[in-house]
Amino acid sequence: MITADLLTRMIKAGAGEVPADVVIKNVRLLDVISGGVTHTDIAIVADRIVGTHGYYNGTRLIEGDNRFAVPGFVDTHLHIESSLVTPLEFDRCVLPHGVTTVICDPHEIANVLGAEGIRYFLECAERAIMDIRVNLSSCVPATEHETSGARLEIADIEKFRHHKQVIGLAEMMNFPGVLAGDPGIIDKLVAFQGGHIDGHAPLLTDLRLNGYLAAGIRTDHEATTA
Ligand SMILES: [Zn+2]
Ligand SMILES: [Zn+2]
Repeated sequence: MITADLLTRMIKAGAGEVPADVVIKNVRLLDVISGGVTHTDIAIVADRIVGTHGYYNGTRLIEGDNRFAVPGFVDTHLHIESSLVTPLEFDRCVLPHGVTTVICDPHEIANVLGAEGIRYFLECAERAIMDIRVNLSSCVPATEHETSGARLEIADIEKFRHHKQVIGLAEMMNFPGVLAGDPGIIDKLVAFQGGHIDGHAPLLTDLRLNGYLAAGIRTDHEATTA
């Protein structure tokens, strides 16, 4: 909750009129758009960065020693369990390297444990320090040829939809099913209309790709040309 007093203090600290709560002195700040590097302080009030590209006074000073400061990295497509560690172990190992947010589809754990696997994954996500966001697995099993046993229909995943770490429906790998109007697939797509739906449609082009997009799917990590 940001009060009027706190917001005023943020503005004045950003403008350099009052000390910030914390100032990280003397860092080389990377601009991830331009690739440029700027020597600067980073001023913080409460949980907000209020100033960069300048030099600040603060109640608490941390010497940056000219080290690089970069924004937290976001891994936009990940199956944590494919790294063969639990989400909390992944958090412990990867967060120190600068990845602060991951967008996950827990479909490999769901292929084995079904909805119970997703429930466990979400419990871990709540406890992690890293921001673990979850897209709910759309294709368990991934194909009809898989024999791991678990199967998730819309009723199995819908109950997790409003969990605070859930952001949408995970990669829709069954693109033939989308285009064929498979009723189970259509039910899942209908449930997530207006929300986020990830894609996975290798080699799909032209009007069939348009058909896939018309389902409301907005991403695809299976790029085949650059
Ligand atoms: Zn994937
Ligand atoms: Zn994929």
